[in-house]
Amino acid sequence: MAEVVLDKVTKRYPNGFQAVTELDLDIADGEFLVLVGPSGCGKSTALRMIAGLEEISDGVLRIGDKVVNDVHPKDRDIAMVFQNYALYPHMSVADNIGFALKLAKVPRSEIERRVKEAASILELDPVLDRKPGQLSGGQRQRVAMGRAIVRQPAAFLMDEPLSNLDAKLRVQMRAEIARLQRNLGVTTIYVTHDQVEAMTMGDRVAVLNAGVLQQVDSPQTLYDRPDNLFVAAFIGSPAMNLFEGTLVAGANGLAVRLGSHDLALDPATVSERSALSAYRDRPIVVGFRPEDLDDPATLNEVPSDRLLPAKIELVEALGSELVVHFGVAAKAAETGDPDRVEEARIASDGEEKATCVARFSPYSKVRSGEDVMIAVNTRNFHFFDPSNGAAIWG
Ligand code: ATP
Repeated sequence: MAEVVLDKVTKRYPNGFQAVTELDLDIADGEFLVLVGPSGCGKSTALRMIAGLEEISDGVLRIGDKVVNDVHPKDRDIAMVFQNYALYPHMSVADNIGFALKLAKVPRSEIERRVKEAASILELDPVLDRKPGQLSGGQRQRVAMGRAIVRQPAAFLMDEPLSNLDAKLRVQMRAEIARLQRNLGVTTIYVTHDQVEAMTMGDRVAVLNAGVLQQVDSPQTLYDRPDNLFVAAFIGSPAMNLFEGTLVAGANGLAVRLGSHDLALDPATVSERSALSAYRDRPIVVGFRPEDLDDPATLNEVPSDRLLPAKIELVEALGSELVVHFGVAAKAAETGDPDRVEEARIASDGEEKATCVARFSPYSKVRSGEDVMIAVNTRNFHFFDPSNGAAIWG
């Protein structure tokens, strides 16, 4: 086991493209760190540099107390689990799991012992004699994990290991991998584009965009205190609602103007963020999460200055809650996430209207097509500087 440290690690491909820029990461011994970001953000490149499959252009990589920039992949003491598992179809499960040990000329009895131990941890004992073609997707994934475990490496590197599984199995396997990692205590770096996977599995999550680290923090901190617009938009499902607005003086202190409507800010929120006053009468990006919106009919009294008029476009009843989509007369903020911009464009109906998503109590009776008022809890509002996307917390 070991810590893994990246110090200003940069990757420039031979064609001149810079896929990763001065990446700093300090992954503690035994930690589960998830690297997450949209397609093409450089997360696989970063992982492949740690594995030694891609040369590091600049910066220093340490595993344990050793600088490994120029160390051959097989001498880095890491085990990698890939998306496609890369199992040998003609070999039994037992031989697949033990193959790397055989190559390393580990004595046969020791291989048998370690394979048995891994199989028992992964509940693969009954299928050790089968070939990969005779296994379910989940079992194949476990064999791939088994191959990593038997090597007893200093670190596991995993590149989207669950992306070939169906949704239900993915949920089950992500819990299994997280539990296994905690039991084994092996430092793990896990790459995914799925922010739910990142949030549920990682001790900490590093968010990458366009090769640049945006923030690295615990899942809850990323959710509650995103450093910038990109992280705010990327983390959370349904995503944070983000609009361009103006900060104005309302009847009871500061308010946010969205289109032609003012929403009073919670005084406690304003007093915590002294920097906000500098944005008065200026454009600002305001963000609020779907759970901070609700149907006023299901709440105790809601002040009239915390209500937003809306036309309901779609109601998705999930049983435990309603996911409600409605149009807001405001402009969607540009977040830098290519997938999200696409969504906003499709959702807008050509006017200055953007889609907003709320999570309502299941007791709400709202229907598609209705004109309603939405209760907005402005206590947890997020604010961002439109010029650079930085969060305004101070
Ligand atoms: P995905 O989830 O789609 O695999 P990713 O975040 O893992 O995305 P990378 O595979 O690390 O992204 O690629 C990062 C960027 O580097 C992409 O824009 C990609 O096109 C580019 N890239 C990858 N390999 C090369 C290469 N050999 N030469 C030039 N550019 C490359």
